[in-house]
Amino acid sequence: MTTIRRRLTLWYTVALAVTVLAFGTALYIERRQSGIKELDQRISLEAELAHRWLTESYKILGRITTNTGANASLDPGISAYLESVRDYLIVADSAGQVLALSEVTRPLPADAVEQLAGQLAKPDLARHTGTLSLGAPNGSVRYLAVPVESAGPGIRGLLVATSTAQAALGPADLLRSMLLIAPIILVSAGLVGYWLAGTSLKPVQTIMDEVEAISDGRSLHRRLPVPLSGDEMARLALTVNGMLARLEQSFGSLHRFTADASHELKTPLMVLRAGVERALVHPGTPPEILQSLDETLAQINQMTEMVESLLTLARADEGRAPLAVEECDLRDLVEDVAETAGILGESAGVNEEHAVPSTPVLMAVDKGRIREMLLNMVTNAIKYTPRGGTIALALEEDTEAVTFSVRDTGIGIAPGDLPHIFERFWRADPARSRTGDRPGVGLGLAITKWIAEAHGGSITVQSRPGRGSIFIVRLPKAGVSAV
Ligand code: ADP
Repeated sequence: MTTIRRRLTLWYTVALAVTVLAFGTALYIERRQSGIKELDQRISLEAELAHRWLTESYKILGRITTNTGANASLDPGISAYLESVRDYLIVADSAGQVLALSEVTRPLPADAVEQLAGQLAKPDLARHTGTLSLGAPNGSVRYLAVPVESAGPGIRGLLVATSTAQAALGPADLLRSMLLIAPIILVSAGLVGYWLAGTSLKPVQTIMDEVEAISDGRSLHRRLPVPLSGDEMARLALTVNGMLARLEQSFGSLHRFTADASHELKTPLMVLRAGVERALVHPGTPPEILQSLDETLAQINQMTEMVESLLTLARADEGRAPLAVEECDLRDLVEDVAETAGILGESAGVNEEHAVPSTPVLMAVDKGRIREMLLNMVTNAIKYTPRGGTIALALEEDTEAVTFSVRDTGIGIAPGDLPHIFERFWRADPARSRTGDRPGVGLGLAITKWIAEAHGGSITVQSRPGRGSIFIVRLPKAGVSAV
């Protein structure tokens, strides 16, 4: 989500930067071109005036040059007007020799003047315009060379030129301003873009939050709110809702099937057990049959346990396993389970220890379920601890929660197995943990986890293979919810 928002903002800013750059470049080129055009118009006007001045003067005076050959020059009275022209102006004779210069042309180095006058010395001089580079410090100039035929034989043409720096001045200013403004535009556009992307993606965030909240089979009845806009988001919400409805239906059938099957199995199992138990105590049963009846009873017991567990989980999934919450002293529960653990531990050769606070730990819980949860953890601890080991059950209380812990010095759990132990029907690899010797169906911890969570709590485990494990259930004092 955050990445889409950032990506959108980034692309938006890049697109804007490219647009600003292209716009700036186009504007700069256009301004420069029109600057050059203005220069051309100006020098054309000046050339026109000078041309007319020479022609009219010649018409009136008949001769406007003094001296001839290398000393030839324009009559001072006539050149006085030309000197006042603001730009470079050169009048040349038919040999290409300079007859008059404007005031501003004089400071130019001789080679620069020669270069400009060279434009008038071309054999078939025609009116032409162009750009010339005069070298540092004068830079390049825009010029217009005009042949002058009506001012007497001594005059060939005139040239007016002006520095292009004037044309570049405006666009350069523009460029500078744009360079100053562009970062401000880009940063503000980036911020606006970020906000805009966030606003447009908000409905997606809402849908994601809602879908995340539907974390297990029990929340499948929830539906996403469908926006009235009728846009893509509304369609997305409708699609997700349709999918949730289908999921809910299949989950429902699955749970119903498990619950019904477990329920139907309970009675025949009870009848079977009663029959086997009766045969076991019957004096006429031959001793060789007794052992196989014993094994059958163990199998029936395990199956009954599994059916009970399946029924519990199926009901929990369907939300039909309400907690019978009542306030009690949790120390009594722990003492009670510890007593059972002591008996079980004795026959398994495992020592049992327990510790409870000296003051009552009062809390509203489902006593039966909590006892079942503790028994599950304790029987596991005994089951997976070799003879001579120890299991320790403890109850602790702080201001916010109570904590049950069951520690053992048993075979431990491989790190790769830890994420799976709360899954239904999951049991560690028999070769590694030798669970083959230990009866069980892999549902105990799934039920334990459900009981902890139904009380608003959580279960965690830490374990080191070969050293032992500790299961910790933490129940917040304010977290009990009837499920
Ligand atoms: P079960 O004990 O019936 O196999 P559980 O759901 O209670 O099923 O436990 C799942 C698996 O977690 C067990 O098969 C075992 O591999 C592992 N496990 C549970 N508790 C312990 C423990 N205290 N020490 C080592 N392994 C354990």
